[in-house]
Amino acid sequence: MKITCEARSDVGRKRKGNEDALFLNPGQKLYVVADGMGGHAAGEVASRVAVDAINEFVTLTGGNEEITWPFGLDDSISYEGNRLKTAIRHANRRVLEATRESAEYEGMATTVAAVLVDGTTANLAHVGDSRIYLWSGGAISQLTSDHSWVNEQIQSGVISPEQARNHPLRNVVTRALGGRSDLLVDIQSRRMDPGEVLLLCSDGLTTMIGDEEIARILGEAEGDVARAATALVQEANDRGGEDNITVVLLKFEE
Ligand code: CA
Repeated sequence: MKITCEARSDVGRKRKGNEDALFLNPGQKLYVVADGMGGHAAGEVASRVAVDAINEFVTLTGGNEEITWPFGLDDSISYEGNRLKTAIRHANRRVLEATRESAEYEGMATTVAAVLVDGTTANLAHVGDSRIYLWSGGAISQLTSDHSWVNEQIQSGVISPEQARNHPLRNVVTRALGGRSDLLVDIQSRRMDPGEVLLLCSDGLTTMIGDEEIARILGEAEGDVARAATALVQEANDRGGEDNITVVLLKFEE
């Protein structure tokens, strides 16, 4: 299946630096968004270390070479799913190692949303509050569930999704690379149909605009993912651009 990819990463209107990172490797069909956290620009380091380490492992396992799997193989998921899951756990180790390199890096961490495509199957993984959405038949659905404090509150019925968007603790993630050595990675696979689009994004998009707005913009772009990517970033900035905004759009075609 042919994939058309368009990506944008924007500093937004309020932040000095961009702590988001994106990584596109069309050769391996690997697409990653990471959203770093930490003082003194350490968030930038965390997200960059993570995406580089994910790419490193996926590339290493893309050939025929015999490699050692640092966490073994999970037989409940496919080989490609294992590549992606292990790449993220490997990246977690790399971020943890980097936090020990300098006092300024202490406590830095990053989210990850990543897609690795194999034929018509998209393997989707995430940690933290970066999201993956599916655009199909004129509607969007969120495929990932945020590892965040506000999402836990929504799941327990304490607050509404609307309240979560403006909640003072909306940026608190409950899972991230750089936190614990035994990181849990959510992974799923989905068979893609022609015409469907995947959106990977950092929370700088979703805290500024709601799902209905994202759906409207994707609909108005009429399949033009370059136009949609630009419009999504523009809309988030028009609404205040309080955080860095990163989007990756993947359009699947016959
Ligand atoms: Ca963010």
